[in-house]
Formats: sequence, structure tokens, C-alpha cells
Amino acid sequence: MTVARVALPLAAPQTFDYWVPAGLAVARGSVVRARIARRALAGVVVGVDQSESVARERLHSIEEVADLPSLPDDVTDMCDFVASYYQSAPGLAHALALPPLLRRRGRAASGKPPVAAPTAAAPATLNDDQARAVAALVSALGSFSPFLLHGATGSGKTEVYLAAAREALARGGQVLVLVPEINLTPQFESRLRGALPNAHAVTLHSALSDGERRASWLAAARGEASLVLGTRLALFTPLPALALIVVDEEHDDSFKQNDGVRYHARDIAVWRAHRRNVPIVLGSATPSIESFAHADAGRYTLLELPRRAPRAAAFPSITFVAPRGHTMREGLSQALVDALSQRLERREQALVFVNRRGFAPSLKCVACGWQAGCPRCAARLVLHRDPDHLRCHHCGHRSNVIAACPECGNVDLLPLGSGTQRLERALHSLFPAARIARIDRDTTRAKGAFSAIRAQIEAAELDILIGTQMLAKGHDFPRLTLVGVLGADNALYSADFRSTERLAALLTQVAGRAGRAGLAGEVIVQTDFPEHPVFSMLATHDYARFARTLLEERRIARLPPASHVAILLAEAHARADVDRFLDDAHAFARERVQGGHGDVEVFAPVPALLARRAGYERGQLVVQSERRSALQAFLPQWRDALPAIARKRVRYAIDVDPAGFC
Ligand SMILES: [Zn+2]
Ligand SMILES: [Zn+2]
Repeated sequence: MTVARVALPLAAPQTFDYWVPAGLAVARGSVVRARIARRALAGVVVGVDQSESVARERLHSIEEVADLPSLPDDVTDMCDFVASYYQSAPGLAHALALPPLLRRRGRAASGKPPVAAPTAAAPATLNDDQARAVAALVSALGSFSPFLLHGATGSGKTEVYLAAAREALARGGQVLVLVPEINLTPQFESRLRGALPNAHAVTLHSALSDGERRASWLAAARGEASLVLGTRLALFTPLPALALIVVDEEHDDSFKQNDGVRYHARDIAVWRAHRRNVPIVLGSATPSIESFAHADAGRYTLLELPRRAPRAAAFPSITFVAPRGHTMREGLSQALVDALSQRLERREQALVFVNRRGFAPSLKCVACGWQAGCPRCAARLVLHRDPDHLRCHHCGHRSNVIAACPECGNVDLLPLGSGTQRLERALHSLFPAARIARIDRDTTRAKGAFSAIRAQIEAAELDILIGTQMLAKGHDFPRLTLVGVLGADNALYSADFRSTERLAALLTQVAGRAGRAGLAGEVIVQTDFPEHPVFSMLATHDYARFARTLLEERRIARLPPASHVAILLAEAHARADVDRFLDDAHAFARERVQGGHGDVEVFAPVPALLARRAGYERGQLVVQSERRSALQAFLPQWRDALPAIARKRVRYAIDVDPAGFC
């Protein structure tokens, strides 16, 4: 009897056996439908064996093989690896490789017809640095070779990707391009289609309909689509002729999935490139400390684009203004107000960056110091206007604005600090004639809203943009010559070990929006700490040196990438349940470490940085090792022991290579 081992999309730690009826062609990678507890689920066959030891009546049969191409070996191997490395359920890892709409029976939808390409743009003229980078990538086609492309903002990384992709496509290969954010795909897509008009390009991200995603998936899996552009979920697409992988903005945290299967798409992309023996290029103006460490150790080849590309401006000038001791108008310094007036006169665009949504981050009683807090989280409520309400940015809780302090009855409640809404009001009153747009999660929630604002910016229909970090990433706005940065000092107080790296990346990216296409750029940063290394880095445009300083600090502190970390996260309604679970998990880990996993260090449980969220008390326990293999040898035993340690009331997850402490 033929028995198939099937990974079903369940949180179970195992795969499930089914017998294969005669005449059904089933092999590793087949997508099948099978019944479990009366439910029919789509799963992936991970192995097929001949077995006489099990009676047929004891097993269910495979019900049908889905009308889909089988998953190729590299994809099933990748899902196996993801399950084992990230300690996740095998069925959940394999489900990452399946297209949506499997529940629908019948014929598979056909691939989307190629979209008519715009009049083709001539290949860009490359400068020497770009040409060298392209030559290195092209010479690596056909072999595993990881590259770190460190290109300053405006240095033309995209032209390098496009030139290398053109060559890979000319040789009949498929190219996979991963970007961190859905909002970046339309811009990238139009550049791809313009530069590579003969390529059949498809996109894959969560904002597409299930039908669109399925069509893109099929076109890629059948080898019809030659270019696949998408967010992290696109990594698992079958690509029979894969020849090159590009990961743009490789430092971005959005590549890390923080629920379900907690994989890092950039790291797994490198694994896939190795498995398929193809080159991979990780590009960024602000590479992660991890990638710099790989480059310094010789594991990645470092390609640098230190200059801005032809036709673009020089680097922007950077000025620091200290809010302390200066008269500020609604959080704006006179220097920034003057610079904004100049831009309005010259009909150039300006961006004022503040990484906080809403009107004010907090509502405070001036008499007794009480601040409005979320009843469900250990966090303050943010004051929003239009309509007036208080909102928690962690759990979404909303409440009406209160008229008087609940502690002392005082009616003089003060909105504390400045968010995008408050800044918008201030700028409207300072510059009544200016066309101002606020761009944050609240104003771009509707489908197509972000693209509409982008089009307005490009058509010069806006003068001042107020934006959060979603506007900092990778967008080119040719008429934008001034960037004002507000509230950057807040990030200096964060307890997360990655906060300085993130701030450095964010500031570099934001500042990089100023001055492109021949117009000189200016950046004004409001900070009380202009001597802080992160601001010195910004002034000297030397991110690489700064990153290496951070790397050295991490080595001294034995933090990633100098060590390898996994976190056990736990939450429950009662703090005592969290504490008991983590204490027991800690005791088990300590015992194992003493009994043979001596290279693994087990830390005492601590509350999460956000100690309560949405009514759940949260805690964490860190284990780490200087050797990845030692940590990997330890984790499965721990993972397998946890279900018995956890009581019903506790929810938990293991996060390997976490984006930070939470
Ligand atoms: Zn009060
Ligand atoms: Zn909350």
C-alpha cells in the first residue's frame, strides 16, 4: 500500500499519513485534499512510502490531487527548513507555499495575460560603480553567490537590479524581487515594466484578491511569468527557472513575520538561493548590522555605490536645531518655518516627518499629572481629532475624550506632544495658501489612497507633505527639496537593542528623500542631542562606519549578530499564569543546559517591554548562544516540552532570530 505523509495547515507538531488510492499520481510536492476530523483540508505531500505494516482501514485515503502544479523540491525543502529552524508546525510552514482559493473546486484559473508594457525606456546609463556592481552580479549567474549592495540614497540601486535582471531574463531565467511594503510595489512595478518590456511580470502581495494571487502564482509556477515582484509571501512561489533573487531594502523589519510562522524572508531567500545555486543581491542604503557582519566575514560580497547616480543632486545639507531654549510654534522651530516659506516661494515640495499618528501622543491633567491610559494595555491613549476620541495604538481600543480628570476633577487637560494631525493644523494656520497632505496609516487605509496621493505629489499638486515612516521608504519625489525631522529624540529612549540601528536607518532614508534630479536638498533635524553618534552619522553620510561601530558594540555586549537568540514569548490574562509558565520553562531549559547544552545561555524571565496588551499580561525568556548550531540543537527539546508545561490559560510562541525584544 502506498502511504503519503501530508503536511496539513494545522498547528500540530506532526504530519499525517493517508493511503493513496490506485490511479492517483502522488509524489513529494503534490498538493492534495485530505480529510481530518471531518474537515477536508488542502495539504502538501512531504513524503511517499510503501508500507504493509499499517492496515488500510486505519488510514483515510487522499481524496483528490489538486489541479495545480506540484511544488518543486526547493520549495518543499525550504518549507521543511523553515519549520525546523523556526520551531514551527510543519503544516503551517508548508501552507506558506500554497496559493489561496484552494477551497474552490474545478479548473484552475488561467494565468493573467501579460499587461501591455508602456513605451519602453532606454536602459539607463550606468556610472562606474553601478557598472561594476552589474558586472559582478552577471558574472555570478548560474552559481550561488550572495551580494550586499550598499548604495547611498539616490545612488541608483534599482538600475543595478534591472540591468542584472535583464541579463538573467535574456538567458531564459526567472527573477524574484522582494520588497518590504505593498506600497512600494506600484512604483517598482512600473519601473520594471518600463525597463524590461518583454518580461511577463506578476505581483504577489496580500492586498491582491485571492483570484489575482492565484493567477500570479500559477503563471510563476508554470514558468510563464519571468519576473515575480512581491512582499515576503512571494518568497515561497514555485519558480522552475529561478536565476536571480533581489531583496530590496533588505534591512527592513517587514521581512520578518511576527506571528504564525515567524520566519525572516531575507534570511530564507539566501537559503533558497543557496539551494537553487543562484546569485542573490540584498540591497539597501542602510544595510542591517547582520548583513554588514556577513560582508565583513567574507560570506557576502560587498558592492558599494557611494555616490548619487548621474543627473541626481549632491547629498543634502544637514542642519540641527535644538528645540530646548528656542521658541517653538506648535513644535516647529523658526528655522524650519523659514525654510518651508522658501520652498513655497520656489514652488518646491517639502516633507515634515514625525513618526507619530494622531493629534497628541498623550492627554495629561496639568493639576495632578494623571495621563489617559488604555484599560487593556500598559500604554497611553493617543488623542485623535476629526472626530475627537482617544485611541490605543496597540490594541485599537477607542473611548470618548473625557471632560475632567478622573483623579482630581480638574477640567484643564493638556494634549502632550505632537502627532501628524496636530502638525497638519499648525501648518495650515502658518501657511493658509499651501496645499498640504497628511500621509499616515489613518489617511491611506482605503485601497488606492496611497497611490492617489503619490500621483498628486508627482503632478506637483501638493506643497507640503506630513508623513510617518511609511513615506520614508524608497519613494522618489523629484521636486522634494526640504525634509524637516521632528521628534527623533523619542527613539533614543527605547529599551530595544535595535532601536539605534532603526533610528539611523530611518533618518538616513528620510533625509534621502531631499534633493533628487538636480535640485539641491536640505534637511533640518530638530534634536536636543546633535552630538549623538546617530546624528553625526547623518551629517557625515557615513552609514557604513556607524554600522561597524554598532557591530563592535554588539560584539562587546554579545548581542546579535555576535550571538544567536531565541525568545519564548508568553501571555495570559493573569500575570501569575505567565510567571509560572516562564519559570517552569526556565527550569526545564536550565536543566537541559547543565545536562549537555552548555553552550546555550538561559536568562531569567522578564516582563515584555509592553507588559500588558489587549488584556493579556506578557512576559519573555531569552536563550542565546554564540554558536547557531548549539542553539538549534537545544531548541527542539525545549519546544517539545512546552505543551506539557503550559497550562490552558497560557498562549506562547518561540521566536528565533527575533526582530527585537518585545
Ligand atoms: Zn488630575
Ligand atoms: Zn490598548
